Amino acid sequence: MLKDKVAVITGGVRGIGKAIAHKFCESGADVILIYRSNDEEAAKTSEELKQYGTEVHLIKGDVAEPKTAAETVAYIKEHFGKVDILVNNAGITNDKLMMRMSPEDFDKVINANLSGAFYMMKEISTLMIKKRSGSIINMASVSGLKGNPAQVNYSASKAGIVGMTMSAAKELGRRGIRVNAIAPGFIETDMTAVLTDEQKEAAAGNITLGRLGKPEDIANAALFLASDMGSYITGQTISVDGGIIM
Ligand code: NAP
Repeated sequence: MLKDKVAVITGGVRGIGKAIAHKFCESGADVILIYRSNDEEAAKTSEELKQYGTEVHLIKGDVAEPKTAAETVAYIKEHFGKVDILVNNAGITNDKLMMRMSPEDFDKVINANLSGAFYMMKEISTLMIKKRSGSIINMASVSGLKGNPAQVNYSASKAGIVGMTMSAAKELGRRGIRVNAIAPGFIETDMTAVLTDEQKEAAAGNITLGRLGKPEDIANAALFLASDMGSYITGQTISVDGGIIM
């Protein structure tokens, strides 16, 4: 489904991003995975992905810094000359009640989750515009659609992703570029590993399908949106959450 496509996946070496990298490589894509700090996990993921026989490239950089997006474009030009898919998946949480949340706590999450996605979209869409095609997928969250206590910073960043996705879709649609978002529910990754078993059980109790999601559940939706299967879909936020948002 993605033969000869080139995909950039931010936060692509762990959790949901890693599952997306597996799915994309399995479908024939070459991938550039951006990560911030975890060299060990990056090397491990890159090794695992070799089984699919496509190209796997790693870039270490902080998406909250505009220069990372510019460096990524330079890298793409040098190694591939084109890019077809961008998945803005990198994200962090820094949960605390609003009364204890400092301006720095707020800004840090906004910068990584929202500004980072903006910098990457702005730079990488310039390459997509030249060839008049591309698919951009931004990672939102159920928290950005219905809020969560102790996540004012996180839900603001993810609600921002939903709005930014629609605006970018409207700007880029006539240039052949689709922009969509996925809003995962409760997915089993390092991000949610900090929760106790009781908290996970309580969360599962609120999920219509009665279970937490797996990174592969999100990767399947990403493959659909990235490929021609999603060729008439743009500006949408697709919830992949086991029915928690209803
Ligand atoms: P995760 O396991 O914590 O992995 C996050 C990845 O993002 C890591 O590879 C990390 O790299 C990278 N990253 C974080 N900040 C970065 C930055 N500033 N620059 C570059 N890379 C950065 O998270 P996950 O659970 O897979 O979540 C992936 C996305 O889905 C996030 O946007 C998250 O908000 C969203 N989401 C997750 C859930 C869930 O239940 N898990 C639910 C809704 C939405 P390093 O390890 O190198 O730091």
